[in-house]
Amino acid sequence: MGRIVMKFGGTSVADLDRIRAVSTRVAAEVAAGHEVAVVVSAMSGETNRLVALVDALDADCAPGEAKHAEKLGGDVHDEYDSIVASGEQVTSGLLAIALRRRGVPARSWLGWQIPLRTDMAHSKARIAEIESSAIGPSLAQGNVAVVAGFQGINEKHRVSTLGRGGSDTSAVALAVALKADRCDIYTDVDGIYTTDPRVVPEARRLNRIAFEEMLELASLGAKVLQVRSVELAMNNNLPIRVLSSMADEGQDNPGTLVCHEDQTMEERVVSGVAYSRDEAQITLLKLADTPGMVARICKAMSDAGVIVDMIVQGISRSDNSANLTFTVGERDLETALAALEAAQDAIGFADIKSDRDVTKVSVVGIGMRSHTGVAQTMFEALAAKGINIEVIATSEIKISVLIDSEYTELAVRALHSAFDLHETPAPPVTAP
Ligand code: ADP
Ligand code: ASP
Ligand code: MG
Repeated sequence: MGRIVMKFGGTSVADLDRIRAVSTRVAAEVAAGHEVAVVVSAMSGETNRLVALVDALDADCAPGEAKHAEKLGGDVHDEYDSIVASGEQVTSGLLAIALRRRGVPARSWLGWQIPLRTDMAHSKARIAEIESSAIGPSLAQGNVAVVAGFQGINEKHRVSTLGRGGSDTSAVALAVALKADRCDIYTDVDGIYTTDPRVVPEARRLNRIAFEEMLELASLGAKVLQVRSVELAMNNNLPIRVLSSMADEGQDNPGTLVCHEDQTMEERVVSGVAYSRDEAQITLLKLADTPGMVARICKAMSDAGVIVDMIVQGISRSDNSANLTFTVGERDLETALAALEAAQDAIGFADIKSDRDVTKVSVVGIGMRSHTGVAQTMFEALAAKGINIEVIATSEIKISVLIDSEYTELAVRALHSAFDLHETPAPPVTAP
């Protein structure tokens, strides 16, 4: 007996049959004597539909009108949050009804009813606090709490949302606040794989993965868990189990335990390969090679709210000028280019080039701390396929390269096989 948090993503609640199937899983945990809080996402495709509605209306708005709207008390983001959060409201209500139909006492909880308080960053808010004074006693009385994921309430009593994939973070934060014994993330794959199983069908499910590795994989593009959910779980030492919501009852469904590093994990050098297509490359040509030049560029980017990721500089000996290439999120490209053009004289460059058709491919593993040769294996594997590397970035447990998007799948498959990721048998599962 204990208190558990179960989270179901969009595909797992895609229609009424799936919602009924979820209610069966939840009812089984209740029957086993657990207090259960369930966090749900919107039905799959629903958040995209809502975002597209906002974008379509916003695109109609002339720049002058947008400025006027800002003066009237806010940009579109506060209403964006209120609109896109509605998908989760629907699924939480539907699942509560499905549970009641099975005789399981349940009620839905929206972010503001808990309340789950966030900061003011609309559309990418961070959780500040979750009060458990209402939901805790309700659980203790035997009610299942069906919580709308992805949403909260900010200091101005407006609905806020936690960024795409944010229901994972709602689940982990709730598990921490409720001092849950387990946090189970049910999704459309049966665990964390050595790479995206949609790209490499031979990818292997990992029985365990270290928080640090999962954090890198998630930051580098593996969207199976939102980055902040892993951060939060790691900081609170709360292991997360990622498992399938599609497995039949009674079928073996061990999933993957995301937890602190242990002995078994140290035996692996590379644990996974991730890729992100949300990248754009900017090259500034003929910069004066003087101290402070990169700082001026980074300042222009941070003033524009753009995060710079990979950076590489090339110096020309003939005229003592430099070319600087760096990457930004694809969605930030226009903003970044506008800010650089505005600061052209202050920074001092002759020309600017950009490319959206680039992908960042990364290998991740805590074993890299103590093994050499990973970079060589990676670069040789890419060279053997004729894939050119544009930019390289490394950290203690990852190596990332920027390549032409056209070769994404080829590169991911080549690296997966170069590091024998499909061959090593998985170690036996140990209970958390
Ligand atoms: P949910 O709707 O349940 O939140 P997501 O679509 O956000 O599910 O995440 C699950 C998807 O993540 C999988 O369908 C898979 O394609 C993708 N994915 C990417 N990298 C990995 C990985 N290393 N392991 C497992 N799934 C991965
Ligand atoms: N529904 C939201 C999204 O699609 C949140 C989530 O599913 O985690 O991003
Ligand atoms: Mg998700």
